[in-house]
Parts: sequence; C-alpha cells; structure tokens
Amino acid sequence: MTETLVPFDEVIAKYDPALGLEVHVELNTNTKMFCGCPTVFGGEPNTQVCPTCLGLPGAMPVVNAKAVESAIRIGLALNCSIAEWCRFARKNYFYPDMPKNFQTSQYDEPIAFDGWLDVEVEGETFRVEIERAHMEEDTGKSTHVGGATGRIHGADYSLVDYNRAGIPLIEIVTRPILVPAEKAPAVARAYVGQLRDLILALGVSDARMDQGSIRADVNLSLAPKGADKLGTRSETKNVNSLRSVERAVRFEMSRHAGILDAGGAVLQETRHFHEDTGTTSSGREKSDAEDYRYFPEPDLVPVAPSREWVEELRGTLPENPTQKRARLQEEWGFSDLEMRDTVGAGALDLVEQTVAAGAAPQAARKWWLTELARRANDAGVELGDLAVTPAQVAEVQSLVDAKTINDKLARQVFDGLLAGEGTPAEIIAARGLAVVSDEGALSAAVDKAIAENPDIADKIRDGKVAAAGALIGAIMKEMRGQADAGRVRELILEKLS
Ligand SMILES: [Zn+2]
Repeated sequence: MTETLVPFDEVIAKYDPALGLEVHVELNTNTKMFCGCPTVFGGEPNTQVCPTCLGLPGAMPVVNAKAVESAIRIGLALNCSIAEWCRFARKNYFYPDMPKNFQTSQYDEPIAFDGWLDVEVEGETFRVEIERAHMEEDTGKSTHVGGATGRIHGADYSLVDYNRAGIPLIEIVTRPILVPAEKAPAVARAYVGQLRDLILALGVSDARMDQGSIRADVNLSLAPKGADKLGTRSETKNVNSLRSVERAVRFEMSRHAGILDAGGAVLQETRHFHEDTGTTSSGREKSDAEDYRYFPEPDLVPVAPSREWVEELRGTLPENPTQKRARLQEEWGFSDLEMRDTVGAGALDLVEQTVAAGAAPQAARKWWLTELARRANDAGVELGDLAVTPAQVAEVQSLVDAKTINDKLARQVFDGLLAGEGTPAEIIAARGLAVVSDEGALSAAVDKAIAENPDIADKIRDGKVAAAGALIGAIMKEMRGQADAGRVRELILEKLS
C-alpha cells in the first residue's frame, strides 16, 4: 500500500496531535521477577532458565523484593502515589517467546499511579502526566533466520531464547500528552531522555536504549484543530533511540494526516519503526484490553508496601537530574551553550567530580571537552571509560595553576596517564616536563633569541611590543615548550626597553 505523507508544516497547520508514551524499563536486579535465575545480559541462549520462568506446570512464582523496591522508587521519583495494596494479573495471549501463554503483569491495580514529570524543551517546560507505572516480566527473545528483514515473514525457521523471559520490567504509561503540534516530536524525545536520566540517577537500570533495557512505544493520534475528541491512535513499538522517538512521531503525524486528508480512517494497530529509513510499517491490529482476559494472578500474594517503607524509600531518591543540571549551571557559571555541550558530551558527572576534587569548573570543562574528548573519540570509547580519573584531571590542573607545567605540557601528562605511566607527578619527573623558571636559563635563552633575531629586537626597541610574541615563540620552541612564558615575556621587555 502506498502512503501519502503530508509535509510536517502542513500537518501542524491543520491537526492537533495527542501523544502517548509507554516506556519499558528493564530493572538491574540480580535475579528475575519471579524466580532466582540470573539476569546477566549476553549469556548463552536458554542457560538462565528454570521451571518457573519457562512456565512449566506446577512451578510457583515468588515476587522479587528488590524489583518492588525499584518500582516504588521509580514511582516516587515520578511524583506518583504508591498503592497500599495491589495485585499482579495474568495478561493472556499466545506468543512463542512467552512460555506460559500469559504475561504476569499488573492491570487495574498498578503499584504507582497519578504522577508527573516536567520536561524541558528549549527553555520551555511541559508537564507530562503519568497515568501509571506497573510491574511486569519481560518475554523471551525470538530470532527469525533466513528472511531478508529479520522478521518472521519469509524466515526459514525461528529460534527462541528464554534467558530474558521473566526479567523484571517497569512499564511507565503517560496520559495523552497535548502539546502544540510543532513541539510534539521534540517533547516526545525530551520526555524519554529525561526519564532515562532519572532512571540512571536512581540506579535501578543500566538504561541502555541500544541494548533494549529502555524501550519506548510511541502512541500517536491526530484530530482536526479544535476537535473535542481524540483521533484513532497507532502504536509504534520498541523504538530504540531518542532520535528515533522524535522521528517516529514526526513520521506518524505525516502518515496519519495523509490518511485523514484523503477522507480515510486510521487503523488502530501496532507499527514497526525502521531505523534506516525513519519510517514505520504495519504490525498487527491492536487488541483491546478485554481481549487479554486479564484476571488476578492466583499464585502470587498481593503486594502491600507499608507506609514506613515507602517513606524510607522516598528518603533515598536522588536529586532530580533536570533540577541538578540547573543548580550546577548556576554554581559553575556556565553559559547555556557550555552546559549543553557538557551534557551532550556525557561529561556532566566527570566535570562535577573534577570540580569536587578541587579544579575550577571552567578548567574541568576545558580538559574534558577538548583534550580528553578528542582522545576518547580517537580511541572509540566513552569519555568515562578513558584511563584518566576526575581526581587526576584536577591534579593536572593544580600543577598548571602552580605553574609547574603549562597547558601544553599538561597534554603530555595526559599522554602519560593514558599510557599508564603513573601519577601526574611521576610522569612529569620521568618525562622531564616541568616548566623551566630558572632565571639564569631563561635569561640565557632570551639573550640567544635576541642575538639571532636582530630585526625583531629592533622593532621591540622601537616600541612595537606585539613583536615580542615572535621571540617568545622562538624561545618556547627552543626549550620544547617548557619555558615559563610569562617570565620570558617580562625578560624580553626588560632587556629591550
Ligand atoms: Zn527462572
């Protein structure tokens, strides 16, 4: 079927979108949701399974207390109410990667409900209302072999790995997000991004979108501007990067508008997102909740967290990442651009730790975002994975401040640190990097430079002080960058005045 895509500018002139985001967070508990199987990522297929997570007859599940704790902390961080009593429910459907033929989830009794998250887009704040955050288990993973697309259609055979079956998930569901049409793609992206930051700050998941430990389903519908009823929604499943969230919203808006402009009806269905083209394609027609025949799980006791425990967990919440960012920006005196670059480079925590170790914020930012970012890029690793610690960066800067070394020599100290040559002080000693500020040696070097560059010396004698730069350059070169440049300049001007 060919689709008519309406240009985004035309979509936003005619229609209002309603967004809905369902984000699945895989928790980083050591064991699964209802059994003691390990949750380590990347194990040999079907080695981390037992009768319970394989759904064998007679196997009895037991709730993982740590997963409940993480669910409550996520709920509290999202400003939710925490249920005093709630149950798990069976969501019945058949799928080969779901061995029990039902998923143990929560239905009308979620552990957390009625919250919100304030999302910032280009300096503007949008409140996203959270309908619920509930606990459930992950399914296994199917691999379809032989087809061109990796999907089941056209595949020769399929393999199922149940290692993932039963890993604890928290599903966080928003209420319809009604924002100005032109902002919808950016708000969707910002929401998922800020939710990810919050999850990371809570330490309840490794929050890797690329490994699927955070997955977003993007619901979208359009209605003609001014309509009092929401349109029919599509649900784009398992979108795996922030950029893709934004693109999926944009594409679906254009696609829905094409159908509505032609007088058609949008089908309520799930869709697949294609990273390579930024487009979606039809998945399956979406079941309504009643098709799942939810009923309370008879094999599990209800979860009834005491108010004392909930309050205790509230005390463990980290500072909200968005607020923390604003606080640090003010404390550090960074411009919006400097802050954005720092966050974008993944250097916020590193700069924070470097400042905590005694460096000035601008110096900390400078080293991480220039010299060290370049080296991380060259090595193809994350900034935080470089073999240089924030404490070492602070130490290097303190040696610069003390004029033991200058910025140029500091770069060589970083070379030494990355090569594992020891502490900054050891590297300076071993490589002979200290700045020369010995008066006799500097004076001799200045005399030599003056003798070798009589034309420049004459200019300086005539009052053209700017010409001193050329002499300083010659001396720094001669002394392999190790001269105290400030003192050299003073000596030149003294000798030629
Ligand atoms: Zn198991």
